Amino acid sequence: MKKEQRADRFARHENNDSTLDKILKPPARAANVITDDATLEANHAQGIKPACLCAPANAAEIASVLRFAAENKIPVLPRGGGTAQGIGSPPPPDALVLSTKRLNTLIHHEPGDMVATAEAGMTLRDFQNALAQNGQWLPLDGDPNATLGGLIATDRSGPRALATERCATWFSA
Ligand SMILES: Cc1cc2nc3c(=O)[nH]c(=O)nc-3n(C[C@H](O)[C@H](O)[C@H](O)COP(=O)(O)OP(=O)(O)OC[C@H]3O[C@@H](n4cnc5c(N)ncnc54)[C@H](O)[C@@H]3O)c2cc1C
Repeated sequence: MKKEQRADRFARHENNDSTLDKILKPPARAANVITDDATLEANHAQGIKPACLCAPANAAEIASVLRFAAENKIPVLPRGGGTAQGIGSPPPPDALVLSTKRLNTLIHHEPGDMVATAEAGMTLRDFQNALAQNGQWLPLDGDPNATLGGLIATDRSGPRALATERCATWFSA
């Protein structure tokens, strides 16, 4: 998309969302929506501060956040480790950031099958450390603070992909 088209899209979006301020105030606000300035500043993308942030802890909470956003026509921006927020198109200024930081559990690891199941917010560092307990590792060389969800979303493969395979090869959702 061209720069002018993008600017136009965001301008239209801002004009249409005049109700956002009202929505973010109780009682319409979803229970786990965070709106304090310090948190929002820390979760900016390309210098653009989101309107609010949610950090759901399970699938039911994710569903409730997405329902809230859909009902109120609020754009959703998933966020993992936030290690590469300077890349890509800038987000709309009034987005709801859905942080995966509380979805950080290794659910299951079967070393004999070389299969592990983990939540999207688990960092690459924690995942590698868990696999290492059984002498295994994931052949990716991303930022250790990147999350599995962020790696999959961007198919972050890195130079090691030349010797092994692309990121997407190692995951199934
Ligand atoms: C728009 C974009 C494109 C990129 N493309 C590449 C690439 O082609 N090759 C490469 O090697 N590196 C790429 N990177 C760098 C890569 O994102 C980082 O190296 C790292 O893997 C990101 O992990 P993170 O947890 O820090 O994600 P973040 O920096 O938090 O997010 C990165 C992107 O993934 C999305 N995302 C994060 N978690 C989830 C999730 N659970 N579900 C859905 N979406 C999610 C975010 O909305 C954001 O667009 C890209 C980064 C961005 C922001």
